[in-house]
Amino acid sequence: ESFTDMCLDSSIMKDIAFHEYTTPTSIQAQAMPVALSGRDLLGCAETGSGKTAAFAIPMIQHCLAQPPVRRGDGPLALVLAPTRELAQQIEKEVKAFSRSLDTFRTAIVVGGTNIADQRSELRAGVSIVVATPGRFIDHLQQGNTFLSRISYVVLDEADRMLDMGFEPQIREVMRNLPEKHQTLLFSATMPVEIEALAQEYLTDPVQVKV
Ligand code: AMP
Repeated sequence: ESFTDMCLDSSIMKDIAFHEYTTPTSIQAQAMPVALSGRDLLGCAETGSGKTAAFAIPMIQHCLAQPPVRRGDGPLALVLAPTRELAQQIEKEVKAFSRSLDTFRTAIVVGGTNIADQRSELRAGVSIVVATPGRFIDHLQQGNTFLSRISYVVLDEADRMLDMGFEPQIREVMRNLPEKHQTLLFSATMPVEIEALAQEYLTDPVQVKV
């Protein structure tokens, strides 16, 4: 399957061409049609496979189909990642595929950076938040952001998030999401803990493996 066959928004297509992504990688060819169809996904893939675009492009497309985000609104989509560095890479990729969409806003919410700046960004209203779990929970508890409008969630490098002790934070987010939401879980390995998480939080997921 090519990017052209995926019925993507024309400004996303423009950004894909700008970044010279001519052919989808294996994970993209497998995961993007599933993500775009609205189904849950369990992806076994490592960094370097192109998995970021595989969830980020459908996520942007998903947000474009929602009512606009205004000041004070919670985000439409959330990506949780284990480290600040990975979150930064993901946000860069999200920005890359939404650069032609003016008024499309994203925020990065990670530890070790100024919490007040993040608070004002979040309160201004963003479509997408890319976060590490601990800092995201801090903002939720402070009332700086809300789960009430989130309908697309990505758990990236889920095995590493569990290794780092983020399971309680992940569960806190997952059990408080609105009922109607789509979840994509990516993990390089599939230990029983990940299978249990998938069992609990994914609905009839499509499994893809590269
Ligand atoms: P990731 O696994 O998401 O970290 O991506 C690994 C690298 O591959 C990143 O530098 C991406 O910019 C690049 N990349 C991802 N998808 C494609 C594609 N379809 N064509 C060319 N480069 C890509």
